[in-house]
Amino acid sequence: MSNLFPTYSRWEIEPEWAEGSYLYGKDGKKYLDFTSGIGVNNLGHRPKVVQEAIQEQLDKFWHVSNLFPVELQEIAAGKLAPAAGMDLVFFCNSGAEANEAAIKLARKATGRKKIITFNQSFHGRTYATMSATGQDKIKKGFGPMLETFTYVPFNDLKALESEMNDEVAAVMLEVIQGEGGIFPATEEFLHGIEALCKQHGSLLILDEIQTGIGRTGKPFAFQHFDLKPDIVSVAKGLGNGLPIGAIIGRKELKDVFGPGSHGTTFGGNPLSVASSIATMNMIFDEEFLTEVNKKAEFLKINLKKNLSSLTNVKDIRGLGFMIGIEVTEGVSEILKSLRISGIIVLSAGENVVRLLPPLTATIEEIRTGIEIITNVLSERN
Ligand SMILES: *Cc1c(COP(=O)(O)O)cnc(C)c1O
Repeated sequence: MSNLFPTYSRWEIEPEWAEGSYLYGKDGKKYLDFTSGIGVNNLGHRPKVVQEAIQEQLDKFWHVSNLFPVELQEIAAGKLAPAAGMDLVFFCNSGAEANEAAIKLARKATGRKKIITFNQSFHGRTYATMSATGQDKIKKGFGPMLETFTYVPFNDLKALESEMNDEVAAVMLEVIQGEGGIFPATEEFLHGIEALCKQHGSLLILDEIQTGIGRTGKPFAFQHFDLKPDIVSVAKGLGNGLPIGAIIGRKELKDVFGPGSHGTTFGGNPLSVASSIATMNMIFDEEFLTEVNKKAEFLKINLKKNLSSLTNVKDIRGLGFMIGIEVTEGVSEILKSLRISGIIVLSAGENVVRLLPPLTATIEEIRTGIEIITNVLSERN
């Protein structure tokens, strides 16, 4: 018997080692990895610059606690906040922790309790973030939830409007719903939310845990839409594989999180921030992102060209390197066939094949991926 709680239904591939866009299994096979460790390894496996940055810090100190000033945290915050057009950063260790911090900050800043989130959203597995999540299957057996969350249909501005009042601390959403099935928010919806938040003095929290750090072709997905959020949460891609999360906030919120108000032992761990700085240096570079956008366009255009005529494909959507292929059957069998054919991809919701390739994938690798996906989906058509 395994000594691990069986919380995950795991794939049949056991990783031996990995490099760039490829993962090598103990089965002796080579797999194109279009999962990026669920949107984490945005620069692929073991990018040299990140490895060197971690190594350099490994030789200095690993952990000292936040009782000390840690220069690397200042450097990392000095990259992360301006990249979002914002001011202040709090470092933590995961996405759920980032959203916890966002929720705490919003409540304390406004003195209000109510938070509005959306159906099919995913914000994490802690009590507050599970309560914020708009999916019953995540909450089953764990009740009661926090009471102060209200859920409305995504992309339905009228529904949101009817829930908005001067008791709403914050509206919180993913710019593209990830786990829920790759559902992008419309531009009109996003601007409508922003206006409603302004009107009622509520804060706008964007959960960019999956969409941030270059995933959609910009540093943050909200930058496709000219939005001004109050709080942005990030994690996944922020450390390219080392655990790190953060919230980014506006300077107006500075005094809300004063000394002793919030904290975490591991937050801003020197090894994690070292890897994050190297990661951000690469990804927040205009030329790098221009290249990402070109490759992402190539991926989407060719998927549409090859798959649109298949009767088992309903929709292809997403932004940048965050793509959902909605199919007419359950996805787990498709994912398995794809793995057997040499590519690892993700699901999102019940019937969406989710592609999160590393931003560093070459055109050649993308072409290989498209070919395998086309073959597998055509065979099952
Ligand atoms: C993954 C994810 C989370 C949770 O992050 P963890 O690091 O697993 O806690 C929250 N929100 C979104 C949008 C995510 O994709």
